[in-house]
Amino acid sequence: MRPLKSNYCQMSSETRFIIVILALITAINYGNAQTNAATAGRNGVTGSREKAEMLFPGGKTKALILSFDDGMVADRRLVRLMNEYGLIGTFHLNSNKLGTKDYLTKEEIKVVYKGHEVSAHTANHPNLTNISKAAVLFEVGEDRRELERLSENLVRGMAYPFGNCNDSVIEIIRGLGIEYARTVEDTYAFGIPGEFLKWNPTIHQFGKAYFTPDNPENDKKELAGFYQVVNRFLKTDSLALMDVWGHSWENDGAGNRWTEMENFFKMVSGNPDIYYTTQIGLVDYINAFKNLKFSVDKSMVTNLSSISVFVKMKGKAFNIEAGSTRHLD
Ligand SMILES: [Zn+2]
Repeated sequence: MRPLKSNYCQMSSETRFIIVILALITAINYGNAQTNAATAGRNGVTGSREKAEMLFPGGKTKALILSFDDGMVADRRLVRLMNEYGLIGTFHLNSNKLGTKDYLTKEEIKVVYKGHEVSAHTANHPNLTNISKAAVLFEVGEDRRELERLSENLVRGMAYPFGNCNDSVIEIIRGLGIEYARTVEDTYAFGIPGEFLKWNPTIHQFGKAYFTPDNPENDKKELAGFYQVVNRFLKTDSLALMDVWGHSWENDGAGNRWTEMENFFKMVSGNPDIYYTTQIGLVDYINAFKNLKFSVDKSMVTNLSSISVFVKMKGKAFNIEAGSTRHLD
């Protein structure tokens, strides 16, 4: 048999017409095949196409962050109490104030905060939105450098002094290698922060409105509101992050606040459903989750990070071990 001419340009117009029709039919069939595969995938025949949802380490659904600012001497007592209850915290420190009245000394930073996160809060605690760009660079860069020297650990996050930031400040701190920055805008909610450099916490310790003067009647209402939020967190079944922030020195104010702090620690400690973490610990975990690589049909996943990541797919929890690839079935 004579081989068919392969040169398209030399074919008769009828032959060209037939080839175009055949190509169209093939394309339509291929499309249907793809659609069928996709449908099968959704039905779990060739692997799930459902979205992987993040779970916290160990497959937990709750995470707790406790973050305290300024590094004053009352941190010694606060950290001792946290250690007693097996809680970890993030401490945002002003390195130029260390060693001055009512602040910790530089020498004790490494010892006091052992096992906790040391984080930046600027060298001198200025309002970053009121100073020059050069001053922001110094305040954050110098704080980071000095705290890394004192803690002998990397400092990768911060809390804004007075909670104040703007786009210019954010751009500068990003350039300085800061990976998250906490504000003082309480959300009273348990969402995962969308923007790490504008990290709004859940609630101030004991629900106090920021820097409002003490008033026994108000304090009582705020405290009741605080425990409502804590109980809501403890009862929820959804993925929830509670981020409580404040200052150890507030506990030295009127009332039995150290006893109250211990009550709160008792309520939230030793809970098998809670992932206890620092702020940078959660940032690293979320980044590891975001960097998971899925196969086209979502039946396989690779975790390139050094952290094991837990995901939920089709109602099942999977542990994707660090540096591994596994089937999701
Ligand atoms: Zn502060």
